[in-house]
Amino acid sequence: KLFNEIQDLKGNIRVYCRIRPFLSGQTGKQTIVEYAGDDGELIVANPSKQGKEGHRTFRFNKVYGPTATQANVYSDIQPFVRSVLDGYNVCIFAYGQTGSGKTYTMTGPNMATKATWGVNYRALNDLFQISEKRRNVIKYEIMVQMIEIYNEQIRDLFTDFNHLFSLDLNTLGVATANQSSGIAVPDASMHSVRSTSDVLELMDVGFKNRAVGVTAMNERSSRSHSILTVHTRGTDLKTGATLRGSLHLVDLAGSERVDRSEVAGDRLREAQHINKSLSALGDVIFALSQKSAHVPYRNSKLTQVLQSSLGGQAKTLMFIQLNPDTTSYTESLSTLKFAERAS
Ligand code: ADP
Ligand code: MG
Repeated sequence: KLFNEIQDLKGNIRVYCRIRPFLSGQTGKQTIVEYAGDDGELIVANPSKQGKEGHRTFRFNKVYGPTATQANVYSDIQPFVRSVLDGYNVCIFAYGQTGSGKTYTMTGPNMATKATWGVNYRALNDLFQISEKRRNVIKYEIMVQMIEIYNEQIRDLFTDFNHLFSLDLNTLGVATANQSSGIAVPDASMHSVRSTSDVLELMDVGFKNRAVGVTAMNERSSRSHSILTVHTRGTDLKTGATLRGSLHLVDLAGSERVDRSEVAGDRLREAQHINKSLSALGDVIFALSQKSAHVPYRNSKLTQVLQSSLGGQAKTLMFIQLNPDTTSYTESLSTLKFAERAS
């Protein structure tokens, strides 16, 4: 059954659109969403244009309205997560402007509340459960790394923040991307995990490191990409054969356009790096969706790190996050256009 679901995947890219609810305190706000259907259709209205031309229709693999739960979202992607244990490479990322719900989808609002756990915890939990079920046939080892890419520098989020240094990419591993043994960032610390509590403990370290930031700037997390990578290695107890898979869980930097006339220095440099890496990601996904012979992985650290799980036999799942507020219309439209190019 799992095999069929994966075979049914058109191309290797799936796009899911998620619209967050208005937050408490946001009263009297107007939404841009005209229609968000289970069939994957989304109609948005331009607040400054009346009539027919003020509407645009998009089509995705799935659209989640503001009442969709974390469990609803996870149940649709579960087969892809589980396929990692069968040796697939899978990449799941969240794209959207700051405040649109990327971290909510990937991680959840807090670790203490299981019901609102995001994709990260649910995925790891699931992998533990399946590997436990198969333990008489295959012995699995599950390992995690967590890195941040900020201004085209890679940093290990599992080590002490004060030891900031930029890690190298294993370009050799990346060059042979279809062999998942090629670990993209070999120097980032790798932790073997056996239970959800191991993961919770580690992620707590990762998030604290991500939040502090070297210059203690506010909201640094919205200007860096964070990548939690799960590596799995299964050993067949009878034959001794091994099977490797990987899962990249990516919370991207905010996609909002920064007004060049209003920022300078560090802020401008950050914005330029973010633009560059998000457009490199868009270009890679576009090339893959076109089945193009040349896929431009080398244009950013982000696409190089993710290379083994973008293209080839890998499965890519993209969450497009929207803030429903009419004041975010321009940003939401640019997010939708990014997604449209990919699907
Ligand atoms: P981002 O990571 O894109 O900057 P966040 O995930 O931090 O955005 O979301 C912004 C705010 O909206 C947070 O307070 C978050 O808890 C809330 N939020 C986002 N998505 C949802 C959702 N689906 N349901 C409830 N609250 C949400
Ligand atoms: Mg965030």
